[in-house]
Amino acid sequence: MSRELAFLKLDHGAPYFEVHSNAFRSVIDAMCSRGQVTRYTEAEFCVQSDGSITKSEQNHKVFKFKGIPGMYKVADALLSEADAQVHYGSLIKVISTTENNLWNLKDKREIDYGDFEILCVASCTVAHPRWSSTFGGTAPLIAAAEQMKIPNQNFQKALKNIAEIKAEPVTALLMAFTGELASAWLSLQWRMLDVSRFSDVISRIHIKDLTETSDSVSNVGVVIHSTVSFGRKVVGVFGKTSTAARLGGAKHDEDSEQQIISDMWTEMKILLKEYKSIDSIPMNSASYGPHLHRWGAAFPGPTLLKQELACIEDLHLIFVGDYIESQSIPASIECAFLSASHGARRIAEVFSSKT
Ligand SMILES: Cc1cc2nc3c(=O)[nH]c(=O)nc-3n(C[C@H](O)[C@H](O)[C@H](O)COP(=O)(O)OP(=O)(O)OC[C@H]3O[C@@H](n4cnc5c(N)ncnc54)[C@H](O)[C@@H]3O)c2cc1C
Repeated sequence: MSRELAFLKLDHGAPYFEVHSNAFRSVIDAMCSRGQVTRYTEAEFCVQSDGSITKSEQNHKVFKFKGIPGMYKVADALLSEADAQVHYGSLIKVISTTENNLWNLKDKREIDYGDFEILCVASCTVAHPRWSSTFGGTAPLIAAAEQMKIPNQNFQKALKNIAEIKAEPVTALLMAFTGELASAWLSLQWRMLDVSRFSDVISRIHIKDLTETSDSVSNVGVVIHSTVSFGRKVVGVFGKTSTAARLGGAKHDEDSEQQIISDMWTEMKILLKEYKSIDSIPMNSASYGPHLHRWGAAFPGPTLLKQELACIEDLHLIFVGDYIESQSIPASIECAFLSASHGARRIAEVFSSKT
């Protein structure tokens, strides 16, 4: 979650998350009391089908939260409680089983991360045929399954189910402005604008006040998310900051990237034409960006991995994440949390039954 942009405290993906379940609520309440998370109470507006901008209707029964200072803090807070060794900036490319039935992980440089009793797969990409078109070669977990001398039926079923999961792409435009230009953005009466009812290109615009108390001038971050249909049209173009380009070595095409930036910027200007102070801002005046970031697999669905296939007990293999069926909204942060918490309980059960 926005880790690589933490210095800017700019949330390029989810700007907030909803909490529906008591289980997630108790964890989030604890984070709130430690100052790691707070309620998201920013003004949310939407563009109506006639182009007018009005206040969004709020569901007062559902609470929204955000990480402090950015969304990355939610994952950071969970990790800080665990006795975990974390490796950022590495892409696991080879997954295999050892003679002792342990899982071995290696990255693209063949760096060996060790042998593990349990493999917890927190992204379906390593088990999805889509891996081949993004990174080349067979997806690491599919390759691991192919190399097993005795095929595991539940593992095969899980891989078949994962292959059916489609992933909708989203492209984001990331920018920051400073001084008078930041003040122009901050003078708008909203911080989140839902434009999905009006635009085929943009789904929402998120403004974040980045001004520190010690700053003598204002700073603001502006993040624009594309619609899924626009994301699909530009699916072959990887932003410089995407995982595929940074870690997987996928090529990014400078000309196509500039065209997408220009298309999204122009659409934003059309949508916000009633604000003269925004209309006069040139694209090259941003203090950061505009940068393109593309998620090839932003929103998994509509098929998700069945809960009963998420734990392959005899292989010590657990799938967790927002691509697993749960009682929350699919492809959401709460869905990822509930699946991870279910996975952790299953690991505890499997191990306690063996001791
Ligand atoms: C543009 C956008 C807007 C969103 N808005 C909202 C919102 O408003 N509210 C909400 O609740 N949710 C929202 N979401 C969805 C939310 O961000 C996801 O549901 C959530 O992040 C899923 O968490 P996860 O842990 O399952 O997966 P991820 O957050 O995707 O984490 C998986 C991690 O695995 C890593 N990884 C993958 N493959 C490898 C590999 N081979 N080696 C090493 N690491 C690997 C990835 O880099 C990533 O860090 C949004 C998502 C996007 C893209």
